[in-house]
Amino acid sequence: MTGRGRFMRRIAILLRVVGLAAVARIVPAKAGIQKSPEFRVKPGMTSLVRLVLSGVVLLSVLVSGLVPAPVEAQDIAVLSSSAVASFPLSLEFKFRAQSSAEINFVALHYQVERLNYARVTSEVRPRFKPGPAVEATWRWDMRLGSLPPGARVKYWWTVGDASGRKLVTEAKTFEFNDERYKWKSVTAGSVTLSWYEGDEAFARELLNSVQASLDRLGRDMGAKLERPVRAFIYASGRDLQGALVYPVGWEGGVAVSEFGTVMIGISTSELAWGKRAIAHEITHLLVGQVTFSPYADLPIWLNEGLAMYGEGPLEQGYASLLQQAISQKTLISVRSLSAPFSTDPRLALLSYAQSEALVEFLLTKYGRDKLLALLDTFKQGATFDGALKSVYGFDLDGLDKLWRESLETRKTTASLPLRPRANELAQRPVPAAPAAAWGFLVFPVVLAFGYSVRRRW
Ligand SMILES: [Zn+2]
Repeated sequence: MTGRGRFMRRIAILLRVVGLAAVARIVPAKAGIQKSPEFRVKPGMTSLVRLVLSGVVLLSVLVSGLVPAPVEAQDIAVLSSSAVASFPLSLEFKFRAQSSAEINFVALHYQVERLNYARVTSEVRPRFKPGPAVEATWRWDMRLGSLPPGARVKYWWTVGDASGRKLVTEAKTFEFNDERYKWKSVTAGSVTLSWYEGDEAFARELLNSVQASLDRLGRDMGAKLERPVRAFIYASGRDLQGALVYPVGWEGGVAVSEFGTVMIGISTSELAWGKRAIAHEITHLLVGQVTFSPYADLPIWLNEGLAMYGEGPLEQGYASLLQQAISQKTLISVRSLSAPFSTDPRLALLSYAQSEALVEFLLTKYGRDKLLALLDTFKQGATFDGALKSVYGFDLDGLDKLWRESLETRKTTASLPLRPRANELAQRPVPAAPAAAWGFLVFPVVLAFGYSVRRRW
């Protein structure tokens, strides 16, 4: 096609799109089947609008006469298109349309806004009864792949009739919100925190904790959030469980990296614990953003160690456990810490403490640039040993050896400020199940939700 031909064809297509989009909106008003204000046209305006539209369509036809073009829809009318959430279990899309000919094709298309390697459009063909007027409904059952609160879904419909006409509706965006609660929100920088119980000071405290954590990670590691994140603070572990498709009987928090969302149950009486929990979970999101790639696979100690580092100075209880394991020579090997942590509460706690100590060792001894380089190497798809070797010159076993040696040195210089405090961990204000009283995170990721989650229990 010549340059002029292409230009004229573009104009033709543009004019028809403009004209048809307007016709699609006008027809229901004409037919008196107004369901949505979106399709309403002021009565006095109708003839004028029609006149303008006729002009647009006519011009379109004239211009399109210069280049071949397929026949387009003129009287398929969209009566309604909507989405209704029943959080967290389902999301229902509803659609109604009519035409002068029998409608024999209806498809729903949707895209979920998430951190992704490629924009994925899903198409579903809901069941419907063909005819001049059709209704179609499709229910997204979240048991088959769920969405966290605040997830945004862009959707549109394609409808076709027996005369070969086809109409694609304008895309709409729906936010899958947990509307069982009256949420309030505060935003600082890239972080939006939503909560429904407690005053604004409560929310600000949590937000300040996140900010302090992000500042620390920026200063010490040079890592910062690359996109906005959201935190939903449920008023209790019980409420949080009610927001999960598959509640598991734990209290705690969930970080959903692909959506930049964390959900945590924090009652107003648990502020101190909550401040650590939210800093921890947001750090997971940050690490997820920094290392996002189809290849990245981080050893668990690195991911959890960074999240613990993000919380701030190691809590005394963890420090005590670590000190005890050092003196009793019961430290876990770095290689073991690269895989999912033990489900034994004591070993799991020690795993978190050791992970934090490993990250701190790497940062203190080799600096932030090396740690960032390590994360970047993992992003490129390196193996655990390979990434460490290329950045630091030693593998997991080498790290294990060097780290233990550094502990010996620290012990002799008595620089570890560890004073055992009985029951400190057990006293953490995390209610419910015995395991929950420990308030630590289980990794890896539970995939049953259709997205990756990490839980604090
Ligand atoms: Zn964690």
